[in-house]
Amino acid sequence: MVTMETLITGVEPPILKLDGIEKSYKEGEGTLPILKGCDFNLFAGEITALVAPSGAGKSTLLHITGLLEKPDKGEITLGGRACGKLDDKARTAIRRNDIGFVYQFHHLLPEFTAVENLMIPMMIAGVDKKEARKRGLELLAYMRLEKRASHTPAELSGGERQRVAIARAVANAPKVLLADEPTGNLDPKTSHYVFEALEALVRATGLAAIIATHNHELARRMDRRITLEDGKIIELE
Ligand code: ADP
Repeated sequence: MVTMETLITGVEPPILKLDGIEKSYKEGEGTLPILKGCDFNLFAGEITALVAPSGAGKSTLLHITGLLEKPDKGEITLGGRACGKLDDKARTAIRRNDIGFVYQFHHLLPEFTAVENLMIPMMIAGVDKKEARKRGLELLAYMRLEKRASHTPAELSGGERQRVAIARAVANAPKVLLADEPTGNLDPKTSHYVFEALEALVRATGLAAIIATHNHELARRMDRRITLEDGKIIELE
């Protein structure tokens, strides 16, 4: 994307920018601060691992980044657009078009086939049915699932379901992929294979990704590693 900033500095601006994100939850009479001023820049093509102990605020950070929750303070800028003051309709549109989510549990629709699960978000975004099927089949082939296109989730293995969920997350060609322990429910071998497929897809599409994981071996393979310490984002070596 050529912006004024690119023209002047020759440097691409970050695809995702977090500035001073704060979030507390109510706890009895008081409040429980979780995020206490998170700053972060993510550039196109980068895969970042988010590694932190349970309860540190990883899911909260991903939900806020993905515009599913609002921060108490701070700004999220996606593709150069500040999202903090947008109304719910605009936030939903950005979530649908620019952000892909993968969760620990696949959340595929059980009554639909693998390819239909990919077609649905594309059709909601306005892609016609024929084109949605074509792109869905291409993405499944990329995930080496072409022979599973007409299977329902119940007819797929755990690793296959998660690969379909990953393909679905990128179906609308988002700018950023957010994954919350996407291989957390899988055995080590399957987890490795699913992560490889995820990495290949991110590399091929040039999108940026933040992947929360407990798996240090997977985290080491990513471009960057960050953690949450006392409610702040710290970059790890
Ligand atoms: P992680 O993903 O790192 O395990 P979470 O972001 O899920 O951490 O949670 C961080 C803390 O915030 C936890 O103590 C959790 O109990 C609390 N929390 C998360 N969501 C809510 C909520 N909706 N209401 C109250 N507390 C919450």
